Amino acid sequence: MADYTKPLPMPDPLTKTFWDSVKAHAMQLQKCGDCQKFIYYPRAVCPYCGSRNLAWKPVSGRGKLYGFTINMGKHPSTAPFSADAPYVIALVELDEGPRLMTNLVGIDPDPTKIKVGMDVVVHYDDVTEQISLAKFKPV
Ligand SMILES: [Zn+2]
Repeated sequence: MADYTKPLPMPDPLTKTFWDSVKAHAMQLQKCGDCQKFIYYPRAVCPYCGSRNLAWKPVSGRGKLYGFTINMGKHPSTAPFSADAPYVIALVELDEGPRLMTNLVGIDPDPTKIKVGMDVVVHYDDVTEQISLAKFKPV
């Protein structure tokens, strides 16, 4: 854990609750009190109805794989992650609606085994003392 050398999120006042919830292994997202939609990424104004009546609510951590790509390479722009290649970059659609860009773990990075629409569940990866990342794995 101490030797984690990849880029890390930098929580700010708007995103701190999200990162704290991931650290607690109990993900929360903003929900609009007016149109009732869940929102991700965190922001000050609802992207659906313009309301500022947003509150943090727990989410299930369950969803479906919406899309993915397998990073095979060692491009300079992703150099901190090169040792992990091949790895799966995934877009997960939560049961609550929002889509998160994440990594799919717990499965071979093999396009014949990974299926769009497959059920996935959050996997909390405690990468440092301060930061945990929300990755997803097959159910
Ligand atoms: Zn709204």
